[in-house]
Amino acid sequence: MSECNLSKYLWDKANLELYRDVLCKALSYVNLPIDALLCKEHDCQRHNAQLKLYYTDIVKCFQAAAAECVCKARTAEILVDPGT
Ligand SMILES: [Zn+2]
Repeated sequence: MSECNLSKYLWDKANLELYRDVLCKALSYVNLPIDALLCKEHDCQRHNAQLKLYYTDIVKCFQAAAAECVCKARTAEILVDPGT
């Protein structure tokens, strides 16, 4: 997930209603690994691949929704951040 740059997004200027709608819709298409979610086996390793895929799908939803609905700061704006 090295490409995850959420801090560069201008969340204070974002349309959060739109972001929420887009994100909810995207998440509704994520396949639930039912077997893995219901597994009660202690230290189970069998569902690792399923859970990893599930996690990756969710992260992709967040990234796609942010990319679609939230403006990104340009490099120049990041460089003049008052904190630096
Ligand atoms: Zn399991």
